[in-house]
Amino acid sequence: MADMTSIDRARLAGLLDRERAACAVNYPKSKAAFEGSGEHLLGGVPMTWMRMWSGGFPLYQAAAHGARLTTIDGRELIDFCLGDTGAMAGHSPAPVVAAVTRRYAGLGGATTMLPTEDAAWVAGELSRRFGVSHWSFTLTATDANRWAIRLARQLTGRPKILVFSYCYHGSVDESFIVVGDDGKPVSREGNVGAPVDPTVTTRVVEFNDADALERELAYGDVAAVLMEPALTNIGIVLPQEGFLATVRELTRAAGTLLINDETHTFSAGPGGCTLAWGLSPDIVTIGKSLAGGVPVGAYGISAGLAEQILGDETADIVDTGGVGGTLAGNALSLAATRACLGEVLTDAAFASMTEVASHYVAGVRAVLAEHQLPWHITQLGARAEYRFTPVPPANGGESAAAADPELDEYLHLYTINRGILMTPFHNMALMSPVTTKADVDAHTEVFAAAVAELAG
Ligand code: PMP
Repeated sequence: MADMTSIDRARLAGLLDRERAACAVNYPKSKAAFEGSGEHLLGGVPMTWMRMWSGGFPLYQAAAHGARLTTIDGRELIDFCLGDTGAMAGHSPAPVVAAVTRRYAGLGGATTMLPTEDAAWVAGELSRRFGVSHWSFTLTATDANRWAIRLARQLTGRPKILVFSYCYHGSVDESFIVVGDDGKPVSREGNVGAPVDPTVTTRVVEFNDADALERELAYGDVAAVLMEPALTNIGIVLPQEGFLATVRELTRAAGTLLINDETHTFSAGPGGCTLAWGLSPDIVTIGKSLAGGVPVGAYGISAGLAEQILGDETADIVDTGGVGGTLAGNALSLAATRACLGEVLTDAAFASMTEVASHYVAGVRAVLAEHQLPWHITQLGARAEYRFTPVPPANGGESAAAADPELDEYLHLYTINRGILMTPFHNMALMSPVTTKADVDAHTEVFAAAVAELAG
């Protein structure tokens, strides 16, 4: 359990009620829109996870530019959620607007089944950043992972994958598995419609547990380890000294491919953790943010694997087994990706995003110190997250156990009611290239007030 010794739960419950009521008053149009939308929308939202927002209803977007978002209630918020990384480039950055306008309205043709010259440029840029040399495109990170897994199975002739407990890699059936209380693998609670029990397809160990990894790889049936170099979806869990090097050594020794999912860890720098930490995966997957909010995903494989798959006569990667998605690699996505990587999420942009994130961390740390709160904050380049334990968790299981949904909801609503938008799950904040230190100071001030009220 999280260390809550200094938090008065009754006080928290009262504050939470107050903030819920304030949210309904502050955002009446959003509330009404949600209440009126259940007749034909499943769950009243365009995608069921949009119900995750605190307060009982999602805010409804009217407009979003840069690091600012305006709701249909006419309220402006500083956006540290940034579409859970989809808008890491900031909302509608000018170079992407120009590229999309040029491709869609000017040249015309969003999707034609034909390649455009942007694709090879983007692939070259991704190779420069992430090391692996041959790239393909999807529309989502989920699909990039799905195809990376299929390729890994084909390339190794092995059936299973291995993931870390409490990972998230999109709606990839194989990945909804955790290490249970008894240490045995078990399907993740609440999973929907699994084709088979994930213990059939997947091995799972805790992050930072090299012994368990070695033990599971020894079965010789694991095609690939699919990992975020730092967990980001159960709070940020950083790798311990030497762990990622051990993962690489063990996977190589076992003939298992290593897939770095950089979808969120891209925040670590222009080439994600792969470049920042000198990692050498066989496959890299990424999505969400590459095209400034326009849907795109990508997976890159090493030159050796590219040669192997292209030469595999049993693998019809063009037709029957063709890595699918009619709209994958479409002209619009790739025009947007080229503009975003070339002009927005540049090396220089990451340097300033990281500096702004460090400013955020310093602000939050000062508040925690002032109130002697036994919480911590972790930074991963442009991303930072505070959690309710004194010591950062070493793995997904520990981090899951430290969750405090009530406290999360209080902090989410407190900030939403005062013009700050955080990610709707745990307490993650992301900096775009246009997020300023003044934006961060506005958060620090609101966070300080939230904590002061809590402390009483
Ligand atoms: N990989 C990681 C690490 C993610 O965090 C996510 C989504 N949060 C995905 C993949 C899937 O992304 P998408 O839902 O856009 O396909």
